[in-house]
Amino acid sequence: MLPMETNNPWTRAKLQLKEAAKRFDLDPLLRARLENPDRTIEVSIPMRLDDGTVKVYRGFRVQHNNIRGPYKGGLRYHAKVDMDEVKALAFWMTMKNAVVGVPFGGGKGGVAVDPKRLSESELQRLTREFARGLEPMIGERRDVPAPDVNTNGRIMHWIRDEYEQVTGSDAPGVVTGKLIEDGGSEGRTEATGLGGAYALAATLKALGKEQQGMTVAIQGFGNVGSYLARYLQEAGCSIVALSDSKGGIYVPRGIKDLDLVEACKEKSGRVAGCYCVGSVCDLSNMGELGGRDIAPEEVLNLPVDIVVPAALENSITAENARDIRAKIVLEMANGPTTLEADAILKEKGVIVIPDILANAGGVAVSYFSGYHNIHKEHWIKEDVFARLQTLMESAAEAVEAASREYKVTLREAAYLVALKRLSSGE
Ligand code: NAD
Repeated sequence: MLPMETNNPWTRAKLQLKEAAKRFDLDPLLRARLENPDRTIEVSIPMRLDDGTVKVYRGFRVQHNNIRGPYKGGLRYHAKVDMDEVKALAFWMTMKNAVVGVPFGGGKGGVAVDPKRLSESELQRLTREFARGLEPMIGERRDVPAPDVNTNGRIMHWIRDEYEQVTGSDAPGVVTGKLIEDGGSEGRTEATGLGGAYALAATLKALGKEQQGMTVAIQGFGNVGSYLARYLQEAGCSIVALSDSKGGIYVPRGIKDLDLVEACKEKSGRVAGCYCVGSVCDLSNMGELGGRDIAPEEVLNLPVDIVVPAALENSITAENARDIRAKIVLEMANGPTTLEADAILKEKGVIVIPDILANAGGVAVSYFSGYHNIHKEHWIKEDVFARLQTLMESAAEAVEAASREYKVTLREAAYLVALKRLSSGE
């Protein structure tokens, strides 16, 4: 029987755990710990807007579990952030860190705000107020935030700075994902996208599939999607579709110059219309390239080999899963596939490389970054990427091996690998 469709990510996370626990003799105490976050924190963020009015935003942090190390996970700024979403994201961080074997627990946070409606100084005031609210709960060896949707190195810098002012300490390790000049790790910005490319390559190799020439459609051309696109192109894939929340472009012959598309998106605020020939990117090149604009939802249903959700949760649902024509889904977003959609994809024989494996590259490099801060070291990018590759490949191989051993999907196998590590304290 198909599991009930649920768009509540926290309900889904608990059901995923329940499913995995059926195949594993999970200690009831560990299960209770995983079903109940250690701590949920809600902070008020009163802030004066540029027009003089005062508004109060809501901020969240969930410390899901720290059996394997300090809580670790990003901070998201998005209008739809709420406690259940943050609980699910923190749970997935616990699982993800166990899958790739980094010594972190799971945490996540966010503010319910549309940052695009704030000025730069409002964004800074909001972040500093949020950091003050979180200050008693975070710290290098306690809980370490990082960037996520709509947050970045600049925002991490403000959090570190505010934390240091409040605590009167030097605390470079209180956040990861900082700017390089602020003690950030080389390669952190690229890490999630690159990690996804490594996970895909290792999984395809283990499955005996040739990656060269595969066509790829990517939903979400932000930090993760844009780097992933570049690394997949380098690995011999053809990126044929890119999208953001406003729509996208589909060029069956392949989108060649991703840097130009990114520059065009930055200028125009959207990917749609960014057809680049020479150094000119606009609609006039559409015919020459043989492309067309697509609606935001269309990107998932194109005739490609690999589809990549790299935006938000719940993008693949019971409504659109049957229309997916790709044979491989690489989940770069957290929780992009609902339970019912997952069952449909399984029935169709689509290989889903699950989020808790595919997008773990960011937290892996955050681990390297925390290590640098503690040991006062600085690794060059090549070293960071080489270590990331080893870590992602061995995680992908372990997941694929578990999927063969237990005759389960890669997602179920990833949960088994994670639960084994959480159980053994490995
Ligand atoms: P981002 O804010 O840089 O980019 C998000 C992109 O998604 C933007 O291009 C936005 O326009 C697009 N988008 C939003 N709604 C969309 C829709 N309906 N259709 C198409 N595109 C849409 O965020 P990011 O850091 O790239 O994160 C993307 C996803 O990856 C999130 O689920 C995040 O949790 C996950 N993730 C991020 C990291 C990281 O290191 N940044 C690590 C692990 C997982």
